[in-house]
Amino acid sequence: MANKSLSGKTALVTGSTSGIGLGIARSLAAEGANVLLNGFGDSKDIDQLQADLAKEYGVQVAYHNADMTKPQEIEAMIAFAGDKLGGVDVLVNNAGIQYVANVEDFPVEKWDAIIAINLTSAFHTSRLVLPRMREKNWGRIINLASTHGLVASAGKSAYVAAKHGLIGLTKANALETATTGVTVNAICPGFVLTPLVQKQVDDRAARDGISNDQAKKALLADKQPAGEFVTPEELGALAVFLCSDAAKQVRGVAWNMDGGWVAQ
Ligand code: NAD
Repeated sequence: MANKSLSGKTALVTGSTSGIGLGIARSLAAEGANVLLNGFGDSKDIDQLQADLAKEYGVQVAYHNADMTKPQEIEAMIAFAGDKLGGVDVLVNNAGIQYVANVEDFPVEKWDAIIAINLTSAFHTSRLVLPRMREKNWGRIINLASTHGLVASAGKSAYVAAKHGLIGLTKANALETATTGVTVNAICPGFVLTPLVQKQVDDRAARDGISNDQAKKALLADKQPAGEFVTPEELGALAVFLCSDAAKQVRGVAWNMDGGWVAQ
């Protein structure tokens, strides 16, 4: 196989059994990276997914089930990455959930879960992979934030707080590694039509008594001037760029790919 930009490297993408995480995992595998997939409680046929990706891209693909709310499961996953694939060179902190309610109605357990999965898990994975990245003087950490890490929407207080926090973590860690070959950046997507956003579409259609298509258009019209969804493939291409040598001075950036959302 021809040498590709990430040949011989290992990428861990958390929450990569669907949506954006799976799209980014595919893009990194297409660049030659061996991939450790992660998910929690998925109903999908993970063995089949692993076999399909390995065949399509000719790389090693492993999977580790870990609940991102549990530090000891995160530790076990990083240890597994070391044993199975030689350690993590590219870390994509992608696992995330959201819940919509005004703050006075926000269930405390939902707040705790959103902060744990969207923010605290990135602290744990980063602290665990950084010693090896420093030792090798090469590494890439990409945190999946959101336009909601830059601007707010009503009803998403935990998500907005977690994503703003994740951008803060990104900047601090980028400064801590600034003189090394390790870079830390965040990607801030606008709406991507994954299961997470499909639920918003379904809720909007039910609330307003409109079709699914009308609900999609309404969601985009509210926020995304380009009028179309960002795709996991587009985000994967950005992740590949951030992993490249050409991007070695891109540090501590919160890079929005959002059809113009935060330019308004
Ligand atoms: P998704 O619901 O399609 O996928 C979420 C992934 O997270 C799944 O693989 C799931 O197994 C995993 N996950 C959920 N809870 C977990 C847990 N406790 N432990 C481990 N894994 C868990 O979501 P998505 O839309 O692909 O979102 C991926 C990331 O991108 C999230 O961080 C999300 O906040 C962010 N994001 C999404 C959008 C969008 O429009 N879809 C926009 C901006 C940012």
